[in-house]
Amino acid sequence: MTTTTLDPTDRAALSQMVHDAVAAQPVTDLHTHVYAPSFGDSGGGQTNPDGLLLWGIDELVTYHYLIAEVFRVVPPSELSYDQYWNMSKQQQADHIWKHLFVENTPLSEAGRGVVTCLSRLGLDPNEKTLEPYRKWFSEQDADGYIDRVMELAGVDSIIMTNEVFSDHEREMWVENPAIADDPRFEAVLRIDKLLVDWPAAAHDLREWGYDVDDDFAGNTVDEVKRFLHDWLDRMRAIYVATSTPPGFAYPDPDHPERNKMIEQCLMPVLAQRGIPWALMIGSKRGINPALRDAGDIGQKENISAVYNLAAGFPDNRFMVTMLARENQHELCVVARKFGNILVFGCWWFLNNPSLIDEITRMRLELLGPTFAPQHSDARILDQLVYKWDHSRRIIADVLIDKYADLIQAGYAVSEDAVKRDARLLLRDNFRTFVRG
Ligand SMILES: [Zn+2]
Repeated sequence: MTTTTLDPTDRAALSQMVHDAVAAQPVTDLHTHVYAPSFGDSGGGQTNPDGLLLWGIDELVTYHYLIAEVFRVVPPSELSYDQYWNMSKQQQADHIWKHLFVENTPLSEAGRGVVTCLSRLGLDPNEKTLEPYRKWFSEQDADGYIDRVMELAGVDSIIMTNEVFSDHEREMWVENPAIADDPRFEAVLRIDKLLVDWPAAAHDLREWGYDVDDDFAGNTVDEVKRFLHDWLDRMRAIYVATSTPPGFAYPDPDHPERNKMIEQCLMPVLAQRGIPWALMIGSKRGINPALRDAGDIGQKENISAVYNLAAGFPDNRFMVTMLARENQHELCVVARKFGNILVFGCWWFLNNPSLIDEITRMRLELLGPTFAPQHSDARILDQLVYKWDHSRRIIADVLIDKYADLIQAGYAVSEDAVKRDARLLLRDNFRTFVRG
């Protein structure tokens, strides 16, 4: 073990040490939408449209962030939404590549991301068409490619988001109990419908053999708990996740069934099992439905839901990320008051260098190294490469400033301490929190 203490006058040495430590630290990617190949391999976007594992150039270029961006360059008056959606995936990718990468400069973060991915994979990102990339990706097999991407991204585990209310995915779990045995992946039980639309969720649960009632009467509480236990067991889920609806409040006088779901079902089951509840707060779906997945926005939400949950359920643990920039400061302040909150990630529209820098700086100043600064939210395997490449650099740059300030104040910053902080931020804070 080295215990080198930094020379307070040598900023270059500090910078090198921090960048090296952050680059070398494996990250546990605590929230993604990437699936193990056992859930079906999309074949690089070419062979199996039902496969849940998405990877390859056509998927990368048709990421929903880039779909939104191409409609700003080629507006719907020139190419209608229907015309776009009626094209094949390859035609959509060709359209986006031409307009965002060849005839325009890919200055957006989503655009730069594709460039970083291609470069880090050893490809020239300056091709005028996608054919050379398609040829290269067609020569990869998904299983080996996952290893390659995880190595390039420095990711030691990919945490999936597993949608129990998706018929397609649920049937896979029922048919193949070993579906999540791939040691590179871990499962998370996503249960939005239970909280967002109880009558529809109750209908599904009855179809699956649970004796529940729309009015929460009779056996409903016990049966919802049985449902949660069954699926936590089946998935070996390490936490439960919910993207909350707009205007989410707790308690909410307008949604008595949601209060009951939280108080009588979800919190007791999770406390008993020692599993956290991850809340993703602040998305509003479909303000432009014609854009499909690309049509959502983020909006400011009421922080009281977070502190009411943390205070009301001290035996439960809450992972919290919020989508609005406006909520970030108050979320940090609330997390100072409750050790059962783990603040995580710079989500979706916050996943831009200027905002990651601002938010990470604020969190370090208010919380010290007790949060999880980032998750990739990748939907396409290859995105792990750019999301972690870009975020690691920003996290390191922020840490360098903070260490420099500490050194100036007289504190001896050692290499071991820098490595410990990188380990906490990129992996262990999350691991400790889910273990309880
Ligand atoms: Zn997500």
